[in-house]
Amino acid sequence: MAGAESVSLEAKNPYELRIDLGHGVPEQTVREALATGDMGFLHSYTTGSTVDGPGVRVVAWTTGCMWRCQYCHNPDTWTMTNGAPVPVERAVEELRKYRDDLRIMKGGFTLSGGEPLMQHRFAIKLLAAAKKMGIHTTIETNGFNGEKVTDAELAEIDLVMLGVKSWGARHKTLTGQDIEPTLAFGRRLAALRKPIWIRFVLVPGLTDDPADLAHIAAYAAGLGTVERVEVLPFHQMGKYKWERLGLEYKLAGAVAPTPDQCARACEIFRTAGLRAD
Ligand code: SF4
Repeated sequence: MAGAESVSLEAKNPYELRIDLGHGVPEQTVREALATGDMGFLHSYTTGSTVDGPGVRVVAWTTGCMWRCQYCHNPDTWTMTNGAPVPVERAVEELRKYRDDLRIMKGGFTLSGGEPLMQHRFAIKLLAAAKKMGIHTTIETNGFNGEKVTDAELAEIDLVMLGVKSWGARHKTLTGQDIEPTLAFGRRLAALRKPIWIRFVLVPGLTDDPADLAHIAAYAAGLGTVERVEVLPFHQMGKYKWERLGLEYKLAGAVAPTPDQCARACEIFRTAGLRAD
């Protein structure tokens, strides 16, 4: 088993392929970790990110995801035991190293993945520890497991970056799951007056249907707490991971959107009264 102490948690960037770091962790240990949150599975930490929330961020990337998005650029994070088993205390210590810098730079800590709420107890413990250190906390989530987190636990999160991948039937084709739990989580966050950023990946021919975009825009505008919509251009930086993992990659021939296509998508969100970029 890859011991928590033997694995460096720091990665140069999240595109580093990491597999089997938790190989050999007994099933019972995984179950206990999920039940208590005393241990989590992490792909890595990266530092200095300016694209994962406000300011400069330290990002912890969890492993485990229940979705199978066709455009996922980190499929090595789907399997929880691809991540290193990390006691929550060690994860907190790792973060503590950056506390003063993050405060000075008005940045914060972002928990991403994978899907962080696959390990919701660990996620909340880590976010709560960050908040206690005075660090701004953000979670990037698809919202599918949002119902597992209580309102009191949501108070540990300053900002939710909610991935809205598509709309209607196309959402299931793209991700393998229904969109409704994501939408319901967004509505619940809005009722709690929680700041939200919507993240949307634009893939020409797959997620760029103007009617779908208009639906997402109307939904986001209706929430009332969406501060920003990020239209993220699809890229192929994760393609090699699909190949190395032996997974069928349906988007091998997909291309990145042009600046014009991104601008048109942003315009749909702006027309609904949202800030989009
Ligand atoms: S929700 Fe995120 S991590 Fe999960 S499959 Fe989709 S893009 Fe990948």
